[in-house]
Amino acid sequence: ATPTAIMVGTGLGAKRGVLFKNAAALETAASVQTVVMDKTGTLTRGEPEVTDVVTGEGRQEDELLRLVAAVEHESEHPLAEAVVRRAQAAGVAAARARHFENVPGHGATAVVDGHRVAVGNRRLMEREGVELGPLAVRRDELAAGGRTVVIAAVDGRAAGLIGLADAPRETAAKAVAELRSLGVETVMLTGDNRATAEHIAGRLGIDTVIAEVLPGDKAARIAELQREGRTVAMVGDGVNDAPALARADLGIAIGAGTDVAIETADLVLVRSDPLDVPTALRIGRGTLRKMR
Ligand code: ADP
Ligand code: MG
Repeated sequence: ATPTAIMVGTGLGAKRGVLFKNAAALETAASVQTVVMDKTGTLTRGEPEVTDVVTGEGRQEDELLRLVAAVEHESEHPLAEAVVRRAQAAGVAAARARHFENVPGHGATAVVDGHRVAVGNRRLMEREGVELGPLAVRRDELAAGGRTVVIAAVDGRAAGLIGLADAPRETAAKAVAELRSLGVETVMLTGDNRATAEHIAGRLGIDTVIAEVLPGDKAARIAELQREGRTVAMVGDGVNDAPALARADLGIAIGAGTDVAIETADLVLVRSDPLDVPTALRIGRGTLRKMR
């Protein structure tokens, strides 16, 4: 590696908001074969909004929102914030949650108005012994349409569903197409439901979906790809993504992401634009050519 080529590549990157932290990052960028991307906040804007509120038998929407929002008020998850905003917009009076418990990768539980309320995904409902019953059909429909579906249970019974949409970043599909034209395989990695993830991946042209991954398991999934002999880049924004960014051959953080992600990554995309992923790989390849 000639120092001049490295300086030119690093400088070119900096001009475009692609910050390589060291020479090794620039060199690795040239040999990446697989790019794994976190869904929420990386391929999507990470600003979910409630699109559907489905109530179970004999429940009123306001009552459901009151219980669910009380639990989500205690959570810092982006899905939780969207639910609370929706309840406020609907003018639902706030309730107090007691004994709040966050269950990472699952959801949250608390006691509201004397009722045990659980809010989260299918895995949480399995843990709570809750059967979806007639709501299962609606859940599948919402997920097939790309909605993230949050299930609410009250005292061990399914009480309703909340569908949320998180719009893809404007350039996500173009970034995936450019990676393909560079001969790079694309993978979506997410804690979200498989059907939801597959819908969004299909819209973006992503090759492979790895869904329903627990926060602590993301790094292990990267290692599996590496064991197949691939040079893997991981693009992420969240605290959950940091171990996977560290494990990947090239960790790429979204500039708008958490401090932990940015500190862990080998490379930071200042503009938070997915199109800067293929740009970074191209700069790496160009640098390597000059070194030979
Ligand atoms: P992601 O990879 O999408 O950031 P997370 O591991 O944060 O995933 O969450 C995975 C899933 O767990 C979410 O898609 C959601 O179904 C559920 N979940 C987690 N926290 C909450 C919460 N506070 N309220 C509702 N659902 C939640
Ligand atoms: Mg994310």
